[in-house]
Amino acid sequence: MADDGAAVVARDARGLSYPFDGIPAPGEAVEVARGVLWLRFALPFQLDHVNAYALRDGEGWVVVDTGLRTPDAVAAWKAALAGPLEGRPITRLICTHMHPDHIGMAGWLCERSGAPLWMSRLEYVTARMLMAEEVGDAPEDGARFFRAAGWTEDQIAQWRADYGGFGKGVARMPRSYGRLSEGDAVRIGDDDWTVVIGSGHSPEHVCLWRRSDDVFLAGDQILPRISSNVSVWPTEPLADPLGDWMASLDRLRSLLPEGALILPAHGEPFYGVHARLEALKRGHETALKRLERTLRQPSRVVDGFPAVFGRVVGDGVLGMATGEAQAHLNYLERRGRARRTRDENSVDWWIAVEQDEETT
Ligand SMILES: [Zn+2]
Repeated sequence: MADDGAAVVARDARGLSYPFDGIPAPGEAVEVARGVLWLRFALPFQLDHVNAYALRDGEGWVVVDTGLRTPDAVAAWKAALAGPLEGRPITRLICTHMHPDHIGMAGWLCERSGAPLWMSRLEYVTARMLMAEEVGDAPEDGARFFRAAGWTEDQIAQWRADYGGFGKGVARMPRSYGRLSEGDAVRIGDDDWTVVIGSGHSPEHVCLWRRSDDVFLAGDQILPRISSNVSVWPTEPLADPLGDWMASLDRLRSLLPEGALILPAHGEPFYGVHARLEALKRGHETALKRLERTLRQPSRVVDGFPAVFGRVVGDGVLGMATGEAQAHLNYLERRGRARRTRDENSVDWWIAVEQDEETT
């Protein structure tokens, strides 16, 4: 809990409160807990920003997450290093997970500062794998996956043309790293931060918990205003990331005290972690119920968008929407609540398994 009286700020209708008025401008910082600075970087997407945090570590700083590699981020980091970080060294860089808005500037920061990179093993290795894929053509496995989901041949052609975007916003990654694992105690300054691993949004997402005052660096594992993308990708078409995600939400709900200050990677620091975790879970359960209703008629993955998102999805986010709808369908399939049949055009048609009939 914050020692500045922040916790008394009134909760909103969703049970959350945001104790800080100001949002840090690029290159500036707001102190949100003892020795913890909040920084924010612009993103050229609909989601227009990502947070990073700097933790005081003796004479230097441990930096957590980095922003996407863009000219704006380079300028903002230079300003932050000279400004709020007082020209002190970065002792270690930690990335919560391998998405480009989190690791994009890691190579730049490590090279410039000489700091080592620390990540979980699956996040580091997956990032390196995705960067290495840039040189190849779009794989047939991907085309097969999206065709099965109901994409048109035009949409698949567009995907082929755009293939290899992962590395565009990511500086060359450091060629070695230090491994963070569940339960590790990371000594930063005079404090221990406990590593808590989540899964579903990314394979082995690192959160950091300072238990002495319950400050929780959540990355994308708990966001206050949006729900994190939970997607199946063509590399593992039968994966069950939503199962992993729901289990992570449950685990965090039982682990974290209600008074914890949550420092997310998008949106503002907040209190109300229990209400937020419950709402996130409820959102997926509602989507699953709507999806089961849709599946009373044979349906493709793309036909599930209105049920999963409550709206029509534009082509600009087709890949992510398909991955997320697929995640909900795979979740139902694993639990015997839906099954699929592949037709002669290699398209999967999904149908709900009537639970009442099964049990009578
Ligand atoms: Zn992410």
